[in-house]
Amino acid sequence: MKRDPIVISGGGPVGLVAALALAKRGLDVCVLEIESQIPTDLRAGTFHPPTVEMLAELGVGAELVAAGIPVPEWQIRDRRAGVIARFDLAAIADLTPYPFRLHCEQHKLSSILYRILGAMPNVTLLFGHRCTAVEQDDDGVTVRFQAPDGDGAIRASYVIGADGAHSAVRKSLGVEFEGFTWPERFLVFATDYDLREQGFTGNAYIADPDEWVAIFIQPHDGPPGIWRMAFPIPPELDDADVLADDYVQSRIKGFLSSDQDYPILYRSVYRVHQRVASRFRVGRAMLVGDAAHINNPLGGMGLNSGIHDAINLTGKLCDVMLNGAPDSLLDLYDRQRRQTNIEYVQAITIRNKRLLEEKDPAVRTERLDEMRTIAADPVSARQYLMNSSMIASIRRAAEIV
Ligand SMILES: Cc1cc2nc3c(=O)[nH]c(=O)nc-3n(C[C@H](O)[C@H](O)[C@H](O)COP(=O)(O)OP(=O)(O)OC[C@H]3O[C@@H](n4cnc5c(N)ncnc54)[C@H](O)[C@@H]3O)c2cc1C
Repeated sequence: MKRDPIVISGGGPVGLVAALALAKRGLDVCVLEIESQIPTDLRAGTFHPPTVEMLAELGVGAELVAAGIPVPEWQIRDRRAGVIARFDLAAIADLTPYPFRLHCEQHKLSSILYRILGAMPNVTLLFGHRCTAVEQDDDGVTVRFQAPDGDGAIRASYVIGADGAHSAVRKSLGVEFEGFTWPERFLVFATDYDLREQGFTGNAYIADPDEWVAIFIQPHDGPPGIWRMAFPIPPELDDADVLADDYVQSRIKGFLSSDQDYPILYRSVYRVHQRVASRFRVGRAMLVGDAAHINNPLGGMGLNSGIHDAINLTGKLCDVMLNGAPDSLLDLYDRQRRQTNIEYVQAITIRNKRLLEEKDPAVRTERLDEMRTIAADPVSARQYLMNSSMIASIRRAAEIV
């Protein structure tokens, strides 16, 4: 008997990874994407080693690596005291064939995935389709959508909500998005002024009680790349004021030097949250990626953890649909991925932000000293690298039964 397809709401990077992982195993997949083409705005741009390994398993690792910049070393700095700690992923080269952070815009991954999926006969890609609701019964799921030519519905064997932070699937399931929103927004902009001239590695986090900064290099028409910088923005400022030339220049000049204007290639402001869905599975519907959890970008864990969800879930879905595994296996997806998101992704990203912004001088000194000590001790540095590269969270998920 022909089975209904697995419908994926959301053709962002996480939904597309899920689509490819299922389609490669021969399952029918239908992706609904609200936009008319791949969004190319600058969002996540860091791939951690286990994520590159997963993408390599899917057959897209080499192309992504070729499109990005490998960054083996990163720094924690204090704005006044300079470099506090250096971490080099070479220290865990025995654990991964990719001992670096791969800096590459997420839309480049999406483009690679769309190209491959578009050529697969068991994949249907529906752009301009907004998922509006999911309704479950004993035999499957009805996924309702709005399309340019009117409303419609598709029958699905399972549905994956990969439709981002405002997930229609999550809302339709009545699942809570528990957590909080930070009061300050983040201003993100990019310059092609080469920060290596000032001694920065390709990725650095600079602590300051008033104006911390995170910087990372991104590919831009080949080397040497452009530099993305993220600053906190006080809640009382309007987006328009923050995005104005004068304001952006004042932030970069305050950080580098005020004797020149800097070229600004891109700028945006966005609100940052720490939230986890109360359930990742309701019957035949599962949540992955930003639909399931969101976090601040310090440590680059949001997209990576979403891809880890997609790989974990699709492995189990294939076992259920192709190998006769019990449906209850999908509850294990919920337990493994929800728990590790709380224990690792939420905890680490909140800790990273607190480290950079701490205002109490005594606490600040203590935390920065702790970072120095960790970096100086090979055993502690190795554990720190395993946590920050997300290897530890994947190992922890595998222990949950
Ligand atoms: C403005 C912004 C800047 C960011 N910057 C960073 C950063 O600097 N560093 C970092 O680590 N992370 C950043 N993030 C987070 C990172 O982009 C996400 O973690 C990542 O995109 C998650 O991928 P996803 O596929 O789960 O969700 P998304 O990328 O959000 O993809 C969801 C997809 O679903 C589609 N969709 C939404 N609703 C529907 C619907 N009802 N029906 C059908 N399709 C739908 C959307 O159009 C989108 O294509 C940023 C996020 C935002 C919003």
